[in-house]
Amino acid sequence: MAYAVATLMQWMICAEEQFKSHLAELNALDAAIGDGDHGSNLARGFAKVREKLQAHSPETPASLFKLVGMTLISTVGGASGPLYGSFFLEAGKIAGEQRELDDATLTRCLQAGLAGIQKLGKAEPGDKTMVDALEPAISALVGHAKMDVAAQKAREGRDATIPLIARKGRASYLGERAIGHVDPGASSASLLLDCLAIR
Ligand code: ADP
Ligand code: MG
Repeated sequence: MAYAVATLMQWMICAEEQFKSHLAELNALDAAIGDGDHGSNLARGFAKVREKLQAHSPETPASLFKLVGMTLISTVGGASGPLYGSFFLEAGKIAGEQRELDDATLTRCLQAGLAGIQKLGKAEPGDKTMVDALEPAISALVGHAKMDVAAQKAREGRDATIPLIARKGRASYLGERAIGHVDPGASSASLLLDCLAIR
């Protein structure tokens, strides 16, 4: 399928709605192994994203991704702001001047986005972070899976964080006490993929 600006806008509106409706749940996950603000951070960040997108009406996927990335970096205080911000900034660099992204180009954008998160945060799969949901989903897309399969992979990756010790972020200070909890960032990353899949 083709991803024009209008479709990517719907993706961001869905994300804003999901983070708003899962605000308390994401905060609770973060309260267990962090500082309890992940839902508030993302709800605030994506509300601002929606506002900015509506105010500026970007004309290309590249400019949309850039605006999303810059907005997240400037409005989300927590670690997740710069990380998700880099995801969208790096995705935007791949999108070029095209007005519609085909499946292969969108996949390359998402791959570049994930590489941006990993360059900044240095997390590998298995470190109990958002990477654990994003990496299997994006790998599936590289293998030409459909978006709903990728979203399922993200959910599986999210659930697979439960038994892990965290090696990055605040949860890493907890050592074995992080075991038994879903990583909040893996949970939000899974919601982000769900929104892309309902297109
Ligand atoms: P903070 O930890 O600053 O309060 P958030 O609560 O918004 O920020 O985000 C926490 C989430 O960010 C974690 O659940 C984890 O998924 C993700 N995260 C933290 N550090 C890293 C990192 N170095 N690499 C990738 N993801 C990370
Ligand atoms: Mg937090």
